Amino acid sequence: MIWEEFTSFQIKDLDKHIPVLINLSATEQHGRHLPLGTDRMIGHHFCQRLNEKIGDKVLILPELAIGYSKHHMDFAGTLSLNHETILAQLKDITDAVFSHGFYKFVLFNSHGGNQGLGQVFIEKMGARYPHGHFVMFSWFRLAVERLRAISDSGPGGAGHGGEFETSLMLRIAPHLVNQEYIGEKRNKPSFRWAEGDLFGGGEASYYRSMMDMTDNGIYGDPRFASTEKGEQIENVVLDRMKEIVFDLYNLDTRSLNR
Ligand SMILES: [Zn+2]
Repeated sequence: MIWEEFTSFQIKDLDKHIPVLINLSATEQHGRHLPLGTDRMIGHHFCQRLNEKIGDKVLILPELAIGYSKHHMDFAGTLSLNHETILAQLKDITDAVFSHGFYKFVLFNSHGGNQGLGQVFIEKMGARYPHGHFVMFSWFRLAVERLRAISDSGPGGAGHGGEFETSLMLRIAPHLVNQEYIGEKRNKPSFRWAEGDLFGGGEASYYRSMMDMTDNGIYGDPRFASTEKGEQIENVVLDRMKEIVFDLYNLDTRSLNR
């Protein structure tokens, strides 16, 4: 179900055990081959597909299209909010949702730079609403072993604008993928302990601007991308998204002695 497609009176009558989900994404550079809206479009697509599959068990809020992207600001077109702004937005939205009687909230993240603040958000809200249930996940951290099995580009290949995001965009919006600009992997050397990709960060977090990590705006290898892989990734991620929403939908607060 889509929040904005209902009338106020229909929302009032809805079962309040239904989890409410919001996509937090980003509007930022993705190299020469992908558009600024890549993360938002990927997040939006997953939400649409989830709604097609189990639309009676989830209520999807209007998405947040701008996230934390300060580390991409050296590249034109990138938009960013501060952590505090995003957390304040999410808190206000949560307060509104809870004031209407819902108490299960899912933050669905589609941008790596939002991962840390997403964790902070559920910790803050979990303490604010002891009777509430808060879940946060990023699509690229679900079913990681199954996702890795799809990847051919090796460590660091499924990074920013790399094999996976490009595959998903080839599936979702091929007319926006500039195939002639799909560049080679140009991840700049760093420390062993700082290397990571979409599936997991390095052993230690090391803050760098994207310009320090890559000179073409991408971190990874889009040459391994394909439409078929986009479909495979979508199926793996959707399976897990359905499982999380189902479990949350079926969760009975009374069974937790609250
Ligand atoms: Zn991205």
